[in-house]
Amino acid sequence: VLKVVENLGVSYVRSSDMYKTKLQSELRKLKFPYRALAEDDYEARRKDHISHFILRLAYCQSEDLRRWFLQQEMDLLRYRFNELTASLRQKFLEHVNLSFEAVSEDLKNELANELCSSTPGFSMIKVREQMFYKVGLADAVDLFRARRVFIKDGFAYVPLKDIDAIVLNNYRTKLSKALALTARSLPSIQSDERLQPLLNHLSHSYVGPDYSVQKNTGKISLEQIDALSVKSFPLCMRQLHKALRDNHHLRHGGRMQYGLFLKGIGLTLEQALEFWKKEFIRGKVDADKFDKGYAYSIRHNYGKEGKRTDYTPYSCMKIIMSNPPSQGDYHGCPFRHSDPDLLKQKLQACKVPPSGITQILELVKGMHYQLACQKYFELTHDVDDIGFSLNHPNQYFTESQRLLNGGRELKKELSSSGNSQQKSNSQESMNSNSTPTSSNTTADVGLEGLEAYFTED
Ligand code: SF4
Repeated sequence: VLKVVENLGVSYVRSSDMYKTKLQSELRKLKFPYRALAEDDYEARRKDHISHFILRLAYCQSEDLRRWFLQQEMDLLRYRFNELTASLRQKFLEHVNLSFEAVSEDLKNELANELCSSTPGFSMIKVREQMFYKVGLADAVDLFRARRVFIKDGFAYVPLKDIDAIVLNNYRTKLSKALALTARSLPSIQSDERLQPLLNHLSHSYVGPDYSVQKNTGKISLEQIDALSVKSFPLCMRQLHKALRDNHHLRHGGRMQYGLFLKGIGLTLEQALEFWKKEFIRGKVDADKFDKGYAYSIRHNYGKEGKRTDYTPYSCMKIIMSNPPSQGDYHGCPFRHSDPDLLKQKLQACKVPPSGITQILELVKGMHYQLACQKYFELTHDVDDIGFSLNHPNQYFTESQRLLNGGRELKKELSSSGNSQQKSNSQESMNSNSTPTSSNTTADVGLEGLEAYFTED
């Protein structure tokens, strides 16, 4: 739900009818009990409360997470508050100890002239239409300071449209304090073995397809990869591919992220071995060292060694939230981990137009990394609306291919002319029997075990 709120919050003006209609339909699709209070549905409300408090636990753990969570909760509350009827709004205000008294019609008519002249943007008609509330000065200090409100006998007469700002401010202060308190008590909560795994993974959990089994397995030839990296790879994988081609090497974080992505788009084990070996032996690693030091880990990646787990490609959240790159690394999410100047250069190199770069940098500034990536998709594919919510690099690839191939499956004989950086790496497609076996593993299961094999730089 909060992802949807984030998505719509940067795509539409929050007070617009379009925003409300879209959010309403998305919440309905997600079966979110957005009218629980109105319908007095106890069970729905209980679930809503429980999920909110679980998210508090998961999202109190870092400054970034807290800020993101606060922003989305604010937007959701604003929408829900404005959807309430006048009587329910009054009930809600009392419930949260903000019992502002609604100004009676008689008093409003009596003060109509003053309300009209002291409330910017309010005509006489609007004064008659809107509800006003009597609010103590301490709660309306911002409106008072900006001279946007009528004051009488120690009370501010606040129109409904400004009440939500007061409610939201109040909620922000309370939630922010509560998150700080929760963070402090986390150590004791984390010792509870029922909660610990949930909390560790919830903030970067991913519930979409795991992309470990691809109907495309074996349909991609190695000679297509250079062209595909330009046309259909998200920026994170495009930069890894380029770094590999330039340096003939990637450190272990990059090999994990890129290797599993390639597996997800359809490279067989044999192809993966050939791909990495051909590139590595062009650098400082000889064939023998590759076979001894690296081949095992690639087979492991495909579930052919060790615990024989069929490892799944990383989701965006995993890439964004864990294992940040350090000097000499090329893994991570460029929207999250590159500084703005460097990101700008990367986008220029990808021929993103200047106005698009400005939009992307704005989204990055607001910490909307996946939305920045969606914008990158739109600009590089020349579409106005991406039409899906991006959560996974392999989803990016699949959607890109679907768009470029007009809904058809990946074309086997995709031309690699023009964009190919390394023709010497060309080779025929290999259809192998060693395709990954079906598995229901989730993105994070047992990766620690695998990463132990990738310690060699
Ligand atoms: Fe890659 Fe996801 Fe970042 Fe896009 S948002 S660059 S797909 S990690």
